Amino acid sequence: MGYNQKMYGLGSRRSIIREIFEYSKMRAAEIGMENVFDFSLGNPSVPAPAEVNEAIRDLLAEKDSVSLHGYTSAQGDAGVREAIANSIRMRFGVEMSPNLIYMTCGAAASLSICLRALIEEGADEECIVFAPFFTEYRVFVENAGGHVVVSQPNDKTLEIDPRDLESRINERTKAVILNSPNNPSGKVYTEDTLRALCKVLTKKSAEYGRPIYLIADEPYRELVYTDVTVPYLMNLYQNTLVCYSFSKSLSLPGERIGYIAVCPDMAASAEVYLAVCGAGRSLGYVCAPSLMQQVIARCLDAKVNVEAYRENRDLLYNSLTACGFDCVKPDGAFYLFVKSPSGDAYELYERAKAHELLVVPCDDFGVTGFVRIAYCVDHARVERALPAFRELAKEYGL
Ligand code: PLP
Repeated sequence: MGYNQKMYGLGSRRSIIREIFEYSKMRAAEIGMENVFDFSLGNPSVPAPAEVNEAIRDLLAEKDSVSLHGYTSAQGDAGVREAIANSIRMRFGVEMSPNLIYMTCGAAASLSICLRALIEEGADEECIVFAPFFTEYRVFVENAGGHVVVSQPNDKTLEIDPRDLESRINERTKAVILNSPNNPSGKVYTEDTLRALCKVLTKKSAEYGRPIYLIADEPYRELVYTDVTVPYLMNLYQNTLVCYSFSKSLSLPGERIGYIAVCPDMAASAEVYLAVCGAGRSLGYVCAPSLMQQVIARCLDAKVNVEAYRENRDLLYNSLTACGFDCVKPDGAFYLFVKSPSGDAYELYERAKAHELLVVPCDDFGVTGFVRIAYCVDHARVERALPAFRELAKEYGL
């Protein structure tokens, strides 16, 4: 054919989220943007903190073109990695070294690099993900030559079920990917759950005489609404790699900036880090955007206005449950996971669409019968969408 069929498949079949996003743009052109309620994409509406623009202005004033826009080291600027390592040390008490930090283009690149660094080609290795999960994991794992194995949650709470995890680990298990706060459910897994999960990984690593790695996908770490803590997984499990991103925490998704941090307590941390560097090299993810590296180094303590997301969460969760929908109450991220009253996610998606409400059917996220509402939109948009949600509830006889 002259080109890679697997890649053609990925390129020609857009993800359902992108599909809906494109539909929303088309529909907005037809009936006006204000009449379409697009809750499909996790694109933050809350502006980046003032510190970000200040840092950009200061850097432009202070530095010459080469130091702003030139290549950095492949693994990222040494000063930037030092600043991140210090921040991890201060915030989480982990003895992080800049030599275990690799700067990347967001969490997507971080995950692709980690998986490529860990999975052996042709060895039929498996990576466990916890349902519900971010659907792109499948693309990243398979591209690295691995197979996805889905661990099912507790039915009622959607909390990870450590016994289910244990039953799915075998001699081919290379890694598990954990995402808390979670996309698409908004759940923040409890410390008890995470301790139980790490206990299983420790036991199974000992049983097989090699590490089963924990890849912590953390773009939503800073977006939590209650006083629940999001434990730092390196403090619970030594074979952890953290994939961090500033896409949501600083509202910078288009700037493509994040990092990988390898746990210093990992037995072969230096070697695993070199495998990360090699995977970054082989995938062409070297020298993450230079200006953005320097910007985030100056903004490590800056915060977006999480309160705005909390207001959306409260309004949407309270209104939808009041009109009879069964929803998971999100403690973090900016997604509301809603159960279809008929059990059919696609039916709810289609019926919502008829009211110009664009939500994402989530059967591909590993649990069936739910849709996801991304409420990282203007508060006024949530308010204006409520009558349509009430109509929808009436249609279902709720
Ligand atoms: N992981 C999860 C769970 C996400 O929701 C996203 C983006 O929405 C990503 C990774 C990718 O994030 P980034 O923009 O940092 O590549």
